[in-house]
Amino acid sequence: CGIVGYIGLPEKSAEHQALDVLLEGLRRLEYRGYDSAGVATVTGGRVEARKKSGKLVNLINEIEESPVAPASLGIGHTRWATHGGPTDQNAHPHLADEAKLAVIHNGIIENFAELKEKLRAEGHTFESQTDTEVAAKLIGRCFTGDAEGDLTEAMRLASNELEGAFTLLAVHADQPDRVVASRRNSPLVIGLGEGENFLGSDVSGFIDFTREAVELEQDQIVTITTGDVTIINFDGSSAEGKRFHIDWDASA
Ligand code: GLU
Repeated sequence: CGIVGYIGLPEKSAEHQALDVLLEGLRRLEYRGYDSAGVATVTGGRVEARKKSGKLVNLINEIEESPVAPASLGIGHTRWATHGGPTDQNAHPHLADEAKLAVIHNGIIENFAELKEKLRAEGHTFESQTDTEVAAKLIGRCFTGDAEGDLTEAMRLASNELEGAFTLLAVHADQPDRVVASRRNSPLVIGLGEGENFLGSDVSGFIDFTREAVELEQDQIVTITTGDVTIINFDGSSAEGKRFHIDWDASA
């Protein structure tokens, strides 16, 4: 199971298409093991999501059949199924807020059943058996509700309601200037570029693109934009990550 996120300036796209960066990151993370893979990118006020059970090549074939528009931000996932079998439907990303929000997740949401009941009672519907889709719908509900259209705040509010272990990444079509991630008892590192920034389960998720990285702590939220990396704690207070240089050889 692995996670990658990317955002770059539009002019970077000649060099780095979001999709290529994400697929390369997922290829590097394959060693972690997985049963499904998926990506979501944001272009022209829309989220485009593709997902497929099986090897990464299945996802790549799917994208060849149904191409994704050029994009400068997105998220990518390899899944190791814990809740719901390894099907296309259960693969990530999971969508919410009228398919404008895409969410990927590694880990387990322990209290997903009670949250699902609560969300169902409010009229939310579910297309998968995963715990992740519950987190996606919850983030969507926070986005349109108390967070008032701020994805970082929506992620923070939702994270405070989630129990268990999770690395969550989200993009929203109405806020295409950022990729937001949350972490509790689960891995996540930030990669620093020029006019672009990266997220990964570990540094191999972006090793082909940068050697400068930032470590964050558990129970923190990070927002990456093309020029900034902002870290906060789950209580909303600001935090600082620890910068480090990656000096291992990644010629593989
Ligand atoms: N619990 C989630 C699922 O089963 C995420 C599993 C993972 O870490 O890939 O879909």
